[in-house]
This record gives sequence, structure tokens and C-alpha cells, in this order.
Amino acid sequence: MSSLIDPFGRKIEYLRLSVTDRCDLRCFYCMPPGFKDFEEPEHWLTFDEVERVLGVMGEMGLERLRITGGEPLVRKNVTDLVGRARAIDGIQDISLSTNATRMDKHAEPLKAAGLDRINVSLDTLDPETFREITKGKVEKVIDGLMAAKAAGIGPIKINMVMMKGINDDHVEDMVHFCMEHGFTLRLIETMPMGDTGRDATDLYVDLQTVKKRLAERFDLVPSVMPGGGPARYMKVAGSRTRIGFITPISQHFCETCNRIRMSVDGTLYMCLGQEHNYPLRPLLRRGIPDDELKEALISAIALKPERHEFVEKPEQVIRFMSMTGG
Ligand code: SAM
Ligand code: SF4
Repeated sequence: MSSLIDPFGRKIEYLRLSVTDRCDLRCFYCMPPGFKDFEEPEHWLTFDEVERVLGVMGEMGLERLRITGGEPLVRKNVTDLVGRARAIDGIQDISLSTNATRMDKHAEPLKAAGLDRINVSLDTLDPETFREITKGKVEKVIDGLMAAKAAGIGPIKINMVMMKGINDDHVEDMVHFCMEHGFTLRLIETMPMGDTGRDATDLYVDLQTVKKRLAERFDLVPSVMPGGGPARYMKVAGSRTRIGFITPISQHFCETCNRIRMSVDGTLYMCLGQEHNYPLRPLLRRGIPDDELKEALISAIALKPERHEFVEKPEQVIRFMSMTGG
């Protein structure tokens, strides 16, 4: 089996697959207000095309798949895609990043199709602050979370982007909410993705300070989380709740990076914070055979840079997070 090893010896076994660049929310750090310059539907990879790429990557060592976007649940039939991915040899873990606004209708079918777990963006429980950040309604997200819990999807992780003066004093409430429901909480530093992300880095919060503050209020012990990715975890003693700290800016974790991303138009991106990419769609639509597709994937992985440069070159990524699939 030819496997996917990058020039720095990192084995690539994880794909983050964006199935749409559209979204029913407008988080200000992610997508500009009124943004409409979305990818044309004829450029979207079809699920047949996606399934083919996944099948070939499965033969080359792909073990984990995360479906993301934009908001993945605004694309029709994502449940069908989960079912197809579940049937692929090699893929052991299928997760979904979602804002959960549509989860109430989708939770049970997604679980039945083989979805293992979800990460849900939720920056605050306060309806007014949620509306300011996303232009949406927090109640829909809570309904979605409860539906996912009831359907037995788990673990459920809450992703909270930390922003000074906006939600940095909402963390304690979120810890209590997660303890009540058995959710994991992940605190995330803002990243300079596109102009929106760059502007939001003015609201940067040092997560080390937040960790110290939480340690004064909760009994935190170091912990690990299977499939936890780049987060460093603490557990709230006596509860099932872990708190993860994702620090791409203050403490990068590139040396253990095992992932690549594919955008809705079939472009492979080697790093969230760099432009190195490899367009697969023209090759797929030209009908290249599997052995050439494997060679293309190996050429793509050869482009993977050593690390992002969010700190040194914050101006360099012009894609919004919703375009690559966060
Ligand atoms: N719509 C889904 C959601 O919100 O979870 C999936 C896509 S969203 C782009 C994935 C993650 O990226 C979310 O957790 C979101 O908070 C995060 N994100 C978006 N822009 C960001 C930025 N500039 N800095 C840090 N995280 C960001
Ligand atoms: Fe949509 Fe997710 Fe971006 Fe918010 S973070 S605008 S929910 S894609």
C-alpha cells in the first residue's frame, strides 16, 4: 500500500472534507456580512466524486474523516454521504463539524447512517451575544445539541472561539452547561483567516490566562482525549467534562499535523494557514484511473509545508475559514 507521508515524515490519515462553502449563520470572525461570492454548484464535487476520492485515500491510509463546511447540513443529503463513507475500508472514525442549527431534524438519520461524533460551534449561551456574533438564534443550537445527545451521538464537543470583551467571561457558564450534559468544551484562539479572521485577532485572548482562571474555580486535572487532535485537555474532577485548549497562535502544534483538507470544489489544501493546494476536480472529471489518482494524491502531499505562519505572516491567508472547511 502506498501511504501518504509528507516531506517531514508525518503520516496523513485524516481528511477534513468541506461539502459546502455556504452557511445559514454569519459568525463575524468567519464570513463577511452579506458575503455572496460562493462556489458555483457545477464546481461542487458530487458525492460520487467524493466517494471515489475517499475510497482511494482509504487504500492509502485514510482513517479519519471530518465533514465540515461552511455549514455541512445546508447541503442536501449529507446523511447519504455519511453512509457511503461508513462503507469505505480504512475509515474508522466519521465526525461532523456543525453549527447545529439543523441538527434537530438530522441527528437520528445521521446516527443511523454511521456518524460517530460531532463538534458544535457555540461561543456563548447568551441569546443576545449569540445574535451579535452569528446573527442567529441560540435556541436552535441548543435544540440541535439536545437532539444529537438524545440520538446517542458522542462524544459531543463544543467549540468556543474566545474573544476579548465579547465572550471571554462566558466560559464559566459554558463549563457548567457542559458538565450538566456531559459535553467536552474546547476553547479556541482566533486565527487570521481572511479579513474577517484577521480583524477578529484584535480580540485575541491568551488561553493560558483563561486556564489559570478556570483552575481557580474548578478542580482541573490533566487529561487526554482519544481522537482529541491538537487540543491540550484538562478534566473537571468528578465530572465527565474535559476542557481542551486549542492554541494555534500561542503554541502551534504543526509537528504532529496528520491532516489535509478538501474544499467543496475538490481542491486539496495542505495547511489551514498556507496556500499550498492541489486541484483534484479537473483530474476527476477527466476520468483519470485510480493509479493516477493515487499519484496525484502523493504529489499533493509532497507540497505540505512544515508549519503555518499565522504569527509571522498574518496577512497571507486570504481564504475565509468557511471556504477551506475549518
Ligand atoms: N459551520 C460549522 C461550525 O461552525 O462548526 C463548521 C465550519 S466552521 C468554519 C469550523 C470552525 O471554525 C468553527 O468552530 C468556527 O468557530 C471556527 N472558525 C471560523 N473562523 C475562525 C477564525 N477566524 N478563528 C478561529 N476559529 C474560526
Ligand atoms: Fe457558519 Fe461555522 Fe463560519 Fe459560523 S463558523 S459562519 S457557523 S461556517
